[in-house]
Amino acid sequence: MRALVKSKAEPGIWLAEVPRPAIGPNDLLVRVRATSICGTDLHIWKWDAWAQETIRIPRVVGHEFMGEVVDVGSEVGGFERGQRVAVEGHVTCGHCRNCRAGRRHLCRNAEGIGIQRDGAFAELVAVPAVNAYVLPAGMLDEIGACLDPLGNAVHSALSFDLAGEDVLVTGAGPIGCMAATVCRFVGARHVVVTDTNEYRLGLARRMGATRAVLSTVDLREVMKDLGMTEGYDIGLEMSGNPAALRALLEVMNNGGRVALLGIPSEEVPIDVNQVIFRGLVLKGIYGREMFETWYRMGTMLQSGLDISAVITHRFPAERYEEAFEVVRSGQCGKVILDWTV
Ligand code: NAD
Ligand code: ZN
Repeated sequence: MRALVKSKAEPGIWLAEVPRPAIGPNDLLVRVRATSICGTDLHIWKWDAWAQETIRIPRVVGHEFMGEVVDVGSEVGGFERGQRVAVEGHVTCGHCRNCRAGRRHLCRNAEGIGIQRDGAFAELVAVPAVNAYVLPAGMLDEIGACLDPLGNAVHSALSFDLAGEDVLVTGAGPIGCMAATVCRFVGARHVVVTDTNEYRLGLARRMGATRAVLSTVDLREVMKDLGMTEGYDIGLEMSGNPAALRALLEVMNNGGRVALLGIPSEEVPIDVNQVIFRGLVLKGIYGREMFETWYRMGTMLQSGLDISAVITHRFPAERYEEAFEVVRSGQCGKVILDWTV
């Protein structure tokens, strides 16, 4: 079968013929239909320090995807051939304390599809059946391919009661933009989004941000302009940029709640007194809650949540090099690879 493989310890990812994956008794074999490219895939392409430490070559990459179940392991219940599924990319151990308590997203031993095990930028992928989520009828394939990053946005946003609250999102990447949509959908009043990239600010506006401003703009001025007097109630850090986190902490109201999703590439010094004396609550977000996030995003998408604007580019899988180039440019939202052609 065709697959995108990290086969050499140097920048690049290569289209290659590889053997069909074998499935175990608890697995599904999924024929991939649509995939989307994540920032993680770009790190693997660039072969940066994180990738060199984490990826064992050769490795089939990719973890944001949907497809059709074409084979079902002998011990699997509840799934059948022909179902359309998206798949949670964190494969959990099932035996650590958090897994046993039903908090699988906090598993100590999680492995990533397309990272520590072969991934989904391929015609076929084998996954544990427990990781699959059956797509609601009528959901477009390309939306199904974006449920993993949408799940990051939903997990972050639904960590707090947002109804009537004012939200600051730092980082208008695909996840920050989808988070803005989700916050408005669940009833936030103002959602202010910052970025350094004008294209992405435009995307955030199209996706429902009340204001989308360059990170150099004074956020207190934006507050004044919107009639806010005290500070932001909820902060969603979705850039991984240290300066963005510090700017966010400064304008939170006392008692504000902050989700940290963006992954910095270095240690981040912050003024801890901002957190102590103002009673801020900081929550780290990793992945999606298994599987509450999946059910809630599925039902929200069925009841009117519309993230379609986040998809800005589509390529047949074999034109993956152009697709990665678009992702690298930052002039995009989500970029889809179509594996059906
Ligand atoms: P992305 O890299 O496309 O988006 C990040 C955005 O932040 C970019 O648009 C960038 O221009 C912007 N930015 C840079 N400096 C900024 C600043 N000073 N102020 C405001 N914005 C700034 O990534 P994404 O796919 O949208 O993901 C968002 C973040 O979440 C990334 O850091 C990613 O690594 C991380 N992530 C975390 C998880 C998790 O489970 N915790 C999962 C997926 C992604
Ligand atoms: Zn576990």
